[in-house]
Amino acid sequence: MVKAVVGANWGDEGKGKITDMLADQADIVIRFQGGANAGHTIVNNYGKFALHTLPSGVFHQHITNIIGNGVALNVAKVMEEIDEITGRGVPKPQIMISDRAQIVMSYHILFDQYEEERLGGKSFGSTKSGIAPFYSDKYAKIGFQVSEIFDDTLIEEKAVRVCEQKNILLEHLYHKPLLKPEEIVAELKGYREQLRPYVGDVSAFLSQAIKDGKEILLEGQLGTLKDPDHGIYPMVTSSSTLAAYGAIGAGLPPYEIKKVVVVCKAYSSAVGAGEFVSEIFGDEADELRKRGGDGGEYGATTGRPRRMGWFDCVASKYGCRLQGATDMAFTVLDVLGYLDEIPVCVGYEIDGKVTTDFPVTAKLKDAKPVYETLPGWKTEIRGIKKYEDLPENCRKYIEFVEEKIGYPITMVSNGPGREDIIYR
Ligand code: GDP
Repeated sequence: MVKAVVGANWGDEGKGKITDMLADQADIVIRFQGGANAGHTIVNNYGKFALHTLPSGVFHQHITNIIGNGVALNVAKVMEEIDEITGRGVPKPQIMISDRAQIVMSYHILFDQYEEERLGGKSFGSTKSGIAPFYSDKYAKIGFQVSEIFDDTLIEEKAVRVCEQKNILLEHLYHKPLLKPEEIVAELKGYREQLRPYVGDVSAFLSQAIKDGKEILLEGQLGTLKDPDHGIYPMVTSSSTLAAYGAIGAGLPPYEIKKVVVVCKAYSSAVGAGEFVSEIFGDEADELRKRGGDGGEYGATTGRPRRMGWFDCVASKYGCRLQGATDMAFTVLDVLGYLDEIPVCVGYEIDGKVTTDFPVTAKLKDAKPVYETLPGWKTEIRGIKKYEDLPENCRKYIEFVEEKIGYPITMVSNGPGREDIIYR
């Protein structure tokens, strides 16, 4: 069976932990989109790890970990990550990289930096990992697929075409040093030996795996609100964050995705710029940030402090709907144990009217949060294993959110570890 684990919100919902946990029963874990611009944090018996491109199944020996065609493949970063985990005692994982994945080139990273510099204060808050220039080139058909880099003539010709386009921008828009075709060719040739052991025909492999009844997990990066079509455009990422895209970014039939586990955090956080209706500020935000996640809400890739907010039922209901949630995993609930009362955003007021439907970005900037306040439970809930053993106010919080969102919360995460999970 194919299951997807995806985010309902702005990312950082705890997908890594949920995937790592579900990976116990999986045979294959696949990253199907995104790149090294965001991270998943996983805490297990080997320690605490921030994975950026490697699938979260790499801690399990029996799992084939696939980097799908939809991913922005930064070869150096993947190799570093493999070294990092094996260097810390994790046995060498089984990894397969799609022959159709495309490569993030060093010039993509430069263009990302140059564009942020040029935009100055109006920037999109890019992590400068080259993701937007990478996907632009992919769709402009001047990207390099993994399978292509083994063909001298092909890369030499394409490198010339890339330089013709890029150098106009470098010279006239950015006033930066120009690219040389031979440098691009050398970079690509440098990746050959690193990639060769891992390259495979992923869709053929998956087709057979499905016939053999294997358990397959699709692992999403970021969340619905960062989707280029359905998110808070233009403050979005450059590849689809939706479970539906899992079919494309991995190469399997859409009807094979039978379960969509949508991960939703018990409060809100976001990185980068963009509308965030239930955002909080000042001491209130600092306190939640400090206590949030596992050791504070700071970006797994960038270390940037995350923007904080109360749980947003409007955004989360929309987030679950677009993902097509069959299950919801409600995470990081333990963090809220310090609060006397907990505001929950239950509607947006726009032009004097209250709505529970998430609007387009242009309307979002005028939206004001409508809050309902629930009593806190004022106690530590880590270590609790049974739903009935949670404090009453904590169960009320979960059931309130479930009712507002309209999707079943089947898992409650009450700590960062693999075992900190309550099934309902
Ligand atoms: P992802 O990108 O969706 O995987 O999310 P991140 O890993 O960036 O952020 C989630 C953070 O919360 C990480 O530091 C996790 O270790 C941590 N985390 C996940 N689930 C829980 C939980 O239930 N409780 C606590 N306290 N931390 C959690």
